[in-house]
Amino acid sequence: MNVLYNKSALSVFESEISRFGVIETGGVLLGWWEKETLVVSIATNAGPNATHENFYFQADSNYIDMIIDMEHANSNGKVNYVGEWHTHPQVNPQPSQVDLVSLDEIVESSRKPNLLLIIGAIDFTQKKFIDQSISIIKRPNDRRYFKLEPLIEN
Ligand SMILES: [Zn+2]
Repeated sequence: MNVLYNKSALSVFESEISRFGVIETGGVLLGWWEKETLVVSIATNAGPNATHENFYFQADSNYIDMIIDMEHANSNGKVNYVGEWHTHPQVNPQPSQVDLVSLDEIVESSRKPNLLLIIGAIDFTQKKFIDQSISIIKRPNDRRYFKLEPLIEN
């Protein structure tokens, strides 16, 4: 398995991190599977009614649901929800227990593989925040977590 982040998703990470700094932010990831590669074509921001704290983040679910439906319709069904992203104030971000339980719950309720991307938003000397991130995929009926090296669209 691989995960490929498109330019438009990468630009959302950069702009949201520059806006929120070390305060946690995030959103959802949309895209599709091409054989063994998960293509992340769109990342959303957290929405206007999201909660952002130092060690906690909750997206605006009404906003997120609206974007998912809109992008799904605009792509004739090609683009779907594939996972979530958020920031941690860590140089080498690691998922919290809450993050892993949340990932498990999404996978078990959707019965689809799901991606969790955590980006370390603390070392602002980095040129690209995706260089200090962790991408974790979990599949239904599989206890393992797969840590993937992100591929970047040129
Ligand atoms: Zn987290």
